[in-house]
Amino acid sequence: MDCLFCKIIAGEIPSSKVYEDDKVYAFRDINPQAPVHVLVVPKEHIAGADSITAENSSAVAAVFEAIPKIADLEGLTNGYRVITNCGEDGCQSVRHLHFHLVGGKKLPESMA
Ligand code: AMP
Ligand code: ZN
Repeated sequence: MDCLFCKIIAGEIPSSKVYEDDKVYAFRDINPQAPVHVLVVPKEHIAGADSITAENSSAVAAVFEAIPKIADLEGLTNGYRVITNCGEDGCQSVRHLHFHLVGGKKLPESMA
């Protein structure tokens, strides 16, 4: 499958890995928008939030179980933000479900 994040998970394209378990891979965003900007992705290819179903939602649960561990690893003791962009209007540029974990500073209140 021609998917950038599947290739990163498979190690075919290099990444700066932060965390990995059997269902989740996390790596530093190449264009960070905060002092900490990690992409947390399910290893299973799911195109986006619009493709989550009862059959694949355990992969999403695994992502959210990993996020507090990754936040600890990154020293985000004062909070953080988790964002997923979906589809055209959401400006999703990579069609493999991913969650931006951003923090390390006081983030702007505005989300849109
Ligand atoms: P989105 O726009 O929500 O789909 O997010 C895609 C993110 O992937 C962007 O923040 C990009 O900076 C990031 N990105 C694209 N290519 C790479 C890469 N090879 N390694 C790490 N992050 C990447
Ligand atoms: Zn993929």
